[in-house]
Amino acid sequence: MNKRWTISKIKEYVENNSESTLLSTEYHGFSQRLLFKCACGSNFEKTFTRFKNKNQRKCDVCQPPKESN
Ligand SMILES: [Zn+2]
Repeated sequence: MNKRWTISKIKEYVENNSESTLLSTEYHGFSQRLLFKCACGSNFEKTFTRFKNKNQRKCDVCQPPKESN
């Protein structure tokens, strides 16, 4: 099904596809919340699935959540 992600691939994806950076150093699966640093300097947590598939690539201040899903 999904391609296998590693923490280094995720870090690369984050740096190439957003203005945020990845702070987490371990990845244990899609349900894990990862720690990111937004371009504004705030840290935020999100699963990689949301970051990638739902385009939630900034903190809640820069990109307020639309719905509670
Ligand atoms: Zn921000």
